[in-house]
Amino acid sequence: MTDFVITAPEQIAVPVLGAEQRFPVRRIYCVGRNYAAHVREMGGDERDLPFFFQKPTDAIVQNGSTVPYPTLTRDFQFEIELVLAIGKDGTDIAQEDAAEHVFGVAVGIDLTRRDVQVNARNAGRPWEIGKAFDHSAPISAITPLDGASLPTSGSITLAVNGETKQSGDLAELIWNCAEVVAILSTHCELVAGDLIFTGTPAGVGPLNPGDRIVGNIDGLPQLEINIGG
Ligand code: MN
Repeated sequence: MTDFVITAPEQIAVPVLGAEQRFPVRRIYCVGRNYAAHVREMGGDERDLPFFFQKPTDAIVQNGSTVPYPTLTRDFQFEIELVLAIGKDGTDIAQEDAAEHVFGVAVGIDLTRRDVQVNARNAGRPWEIGKAFDHSAPISAITPLDGASLPTSGSITLAVNGETKQSGDLAELIWNCAEVVAILSTHCELVAGDLIFTGTPAGVGPLNPGDRIVGNIDGLPQLEINIGG
């Protein structure tokens, strides 16, 4: 057994539907813009190649939790996203092999300090502080793929206080799940334990203390989060 000079950080993990064991999280990747209508609402061009950023692993928020309203921002926003959970290592993964590298899928929310992100972008600085902060990655339990193919369609919605704010379909992904896995695996080795947030449809907007967020993707467990003070 290895001894450490301080208490070792805990292994962050996400529940798995139908299993007692949990999914250990290594890295959290996110696709920047992957639905045409959201690219347009953010002032971008949907013909651009996808780009990626990361959130810290301990940004994971378990389903049913309360997320504290973060510091630094006055425009804290939601982005509902399908999440892929990588179960097998690989680099330069072919699109047709992508599914065998995916353990399962989940519902996630890419919480964003939008004003901080946009200010950083406009100043030519990294987005990091707008995207990669504590409690910024709520996620549902993971539904194992169990040999099924990667989802290519199905509704993806988010409601705040019972009012639908985002309503899209996975068929609208500019870069589908297999393409996201293939492209990201040319940037770096994908390793079992990695999560990939695949991008959000249009309709992103602000959150306030006390809000209740409900996210749904066809066939997956509902994700529910409250915003604290
Ligand atoms: Mn996002």
